[in-house]
This record gives sequence, structure tokens and C-alpha cells, in this order.
Amino acid sequence: MKESRPAITDVSENALVVWLRERGEPAYRAKQIRRQVARGTADDWSGLTDLPAALRAALAQSFRWSAVEPVREIESADGETRKVLLRLHDGHHIESVLMPHHGARNSVCFSTQAGCPMACAFCATGEMGLVRNLTTGEIVDQIRHWQRELIAKGERVSHVVAMGMGEPLANLDATVTAVKMLIDPELFGISPRRVTISTVGLVPQMDELAALDLPMNLAVSLHAPNDRIRFSIVPSNKRWGVDEILAASKRYVEKTNRRVTFEYVLLSGVNDAERDAIELATRITKLGRTSDYQKARDSGPSSTGRAGLGSYHVNLIPVNPGPGGFARPPVERMERFAEVLQEHGIAATLRISKGQDIAAGCGQLKVAEGRARAS
Ligand code: SF4
Repeated sequence: MKESRPAITDVSENALVVWLRERGEPAYRAKQIRRQVARGTADDWSGLTDLPAALRAALAQSFRWSAVEPVREIESADGETRKVLLRLHDGHHIESVLMPHHGARNSVCFSTQAGCPMACAFCATGEMGLVRNLTTGEIVDQIRHWQRELIAKGERVSHVVAMGMGEPLANLDATVTAVKMLIDPELFGISPRRVTISTVGLVPQMDELAALDLPMNLAVSLHAPNDRIRFSIVPSNKRWGVDEILAASKRYVEKTNRRVTFEYVLLSGVNDAERDAIELATRITKLGRTSDYQKARDSGPSSTGRAGLGSYHVNLIPVNPGPGGFARPPVERMERFAEVLQEHGIAATLRISKGQDIAAGCGQLKVAEGRARAS
């Protein structure tokens, strides 16, 4: 039978106050309940022992404790990165990844949609198509899944990145409401500067995000230096081309004063040539140099003379084996690509994917689970 109770993380504070009032409970309980939901170590309603037993029972009758239920967890060979497959109330599945960094920080990568409509040629999630948008609670509870365990050992989720299944800006309202809960000091208390939203380049929504005035980081999945290459691997490029996406990235930097990271998946023989690196570097350099706002900002004593270039970073990601039959370029070729960018004064990182042995590329655990069931 389909679950009709909403998850508590899908209930706003105002709605919870109304619910409490109808039961003769004081309004302050709403904050108390929401704080414990975000920061507590309880596994279900019975763990909220500072609430009266009758109230706990009423809460359990009206609201699900969580919008997600863990099905299966795997960890990388080094035991650091962990990925969980989570079941939603209607039987669909999503995934979330915890990436601890030597006790210094705990990053969680979360999904914003079940499946994804963007159909990027190298992506397992894109192969599935869109199943549906996630609710705010289904997004927040991915972080809560890891948070409970971390808090029990005196740690907490410190960074979050919307780079799991789905295109976050195609589910903008739920994603933004979830982020507002994550950065609320009364709830998860994560600094907005430690929140990264990724996008394949939905230009109007990039502008909407910039207008929210939340100092979050933006990661733009560019993957190509020009429209010709991008058309072949990112179908949404037919709607918004590289020039429009770069212009929107610049507007985001100017509006929010935050850095934009360009994600670039390296695909052997497709987008990894030295001339591709030069073309990418030329475009980003131009982007940095043409911003009057940034010129003013960077004209201090620490200026590098490349106005605004410091606002852009390129993250080079060797492709994971998966759909499309793409192969990783040889290491020397990837290193040369990074060098070319650096020679142009662009901060570029070549990132050998963390947790590749557990298929941490987006959507791959979900696909693996589906195949296991089918067989
Ligand atoms: S790479 Fe991201 S945007 Fe593209 S299909 Fe996969 S999940 Fe969607």
C-alpha cells in the first residue's frame, strides 16, 4: 500500500506549528522537533525521549520519520568513500555518497531527482531517463542518513554537493528549500560556502539561483570547449550552447561573489586533445578578462593581472567505465590537458575519482542494483 503520511522533513515549520496547536501542544515544540530531527542520533520517533510519550505516538501516526530507507551500502577498497542505495516510499531508488577527508571534513554528495532527463552520453543515470523529481524531504534525508551516524561519533556533515542523480536546477524549488534547511543554523548549520550546486547548464535557472543571494558554489558541467563536441555528449547543449552557459557563469560570479567550477569529464579521443585544452583555456581566460566588476575587485595588491580569472576553476575528471563505451585517456594526456590550462593561469585539478571501485559515478549503484534484480 502506498504510504500516505508525509515525511517530517517534508513538513514546514509553520505546518508543524498548526499540527501541534490542533493537539493543544505549544508552538515551541516545532523548533524542538525539527532540531532533533536534523541533529539527533535517534533512528525513529521513539528516540525523542524528551517529548511526552503521547506526542511521540501522535507524531509517528501522522509523519514518517524519514523519506528514505537504506537498502544497500558499499564502500571503496580504501574504506573511506561509502555509497548508499536508498528506497523511496513509492519504490523508486536514489543514491547518496559520503566522502570523509581524513577526519577534517565530511562531504555528502546527494541526488535531486530519481533518474535524470539530461541524457549525458557517458552517464548511467542519464541512461535511465527521468523517473521523477525528489521532494525536499527526500533530498534532506540523504544528508540525515549520514548525519545521524557522524553525530553519534562526535562529527557532522560539513560539506554537501548536489552532484548525485539528477539535474538539480531542473528541480530548483525542492533543491533550494532543502539547501535552506541545510544552512539553517538551527537545523543542519552547514555554511552556504560549503554547499555546491551542480548544473549541466540550464541558463534561466542559473540566473534564478544567482538572484537568491545565497553564497553557494556553482559547478557547471561543461565537458567540452565548444558546441560541436558538446552537442555529441550533452544533449541539453542544443538548448543552451557553450557561449550562453559561460556568460551565465560569469553573471553568477558577479552576482554572488563565489567561484564557479567547470566540471570536465575527460573522454579518450573525444574532448582530451591539447587543442581542446587550448580552446577551453582561451574561452575561460576571455571570460575572466571581460568582467569589469572583477577587474575592480582584483585590482588590489594581490592581483595576478588576469582580472577575474581566479573566479574560475576547472575540475578534470577521468571518465568511469560505463555507458557510451567511453575510455579514460592515458595519464600523460590528462596531465598535459591540466598543464595547458595551468600555463594559461587557470586553476585546474586532475581528479582521479574517489571511490571508483564502488562505482561512485552518478547513477551507477542504482543501475547495478537494477541489473542484479533483473538477473
Ligand atoms: S551527468 Fe548529471 S546531468 Fe548528465 S545525465 Fe548524468 S546525472 Fe543527468
